[in-house]
Amino acid sequence: MRILVTNDDGVYSPGIRALARAASRFGEVRIVAPDVEQSSISAAVTSTRPLRILPARVEGFDAFRVNGTPADCVAVGAHVWGAVSIVFSGINHGLNVGTALWHSGTLAAAKQATLLGMRGIAFSAPHDEASDFSELLPWVERTIAELLPMRELGLLNVNFPENPRAVCWTRQSVHRLRGRMVPTLDPYRREHFWFAPIPCEDADEGSDRRAIEQGLVSITPLKLDLTDHDALRAHVAR
Ligand code: MN
Repeated sequence: MRILVTNDDGVYSPGIRALARAASRFGEVRIVAPDVEQSSISAAVTSTRPLRILPARVEGFDAFRVNGTPADCVAVGAHVWGAVSIVFSGINHGLNVGTALWHSGTLAAAKQATLLGMRGIAFSAPHDEASDFSELLPWVERTIAELLPMRELGLLNVNFPENPRAVCWTRQSVHRLRGRMVPTLDPYRREHFWFAPIPCEDADEGSDRRAIEQGLVSITPLKLDLTDHDALRAHVAR
């Protein structure tokens, strides 16, 4: 089985090496990832310039860097390699739960896989610059072993807490954001801003955010359909 491994933190991120290491126990692995960090780029694709796929040095792995987005990497990586059955994205340096799913490049790569007829699984963990995720590896392998046979699940979002104690299935936490803009000054004393949103509400029971608070690995099955079916039914009925 061919497993394409990508991310949004860039091809040289420690997280992608950890995921490739775990994936290599389950199939043939190739890394194809952005040459620079693309966090929060969501499902953007490059449409106004060509993409290049060039060899990258990632010890122990067949690896390539792409001058594009995570979604680009999945498209070009799967095209060049061929016969890819599943895409793993991550391990992201930073959780992707709740509203972050709208912005995440990590999840978007998995989504792009399903759009192209493959399966896609996104993996994320709390942000830690120093971590090589080695302590998480048994949990990553356990999760992959559980999810791989579930072929009916096309798109999955997995988040690891700092010290997992068990695994649970969750739904996406839907909450509003306080769109906090943090002002700072640049070296020329001009004001500029950082977007630093924080959730307005506490994590809801059964959600991905709540699982992380409880020290549980969160697995959320996702679908591509964004339609509000209740609203659609209500309007058709009128
Ligand atoms: Mn990232």
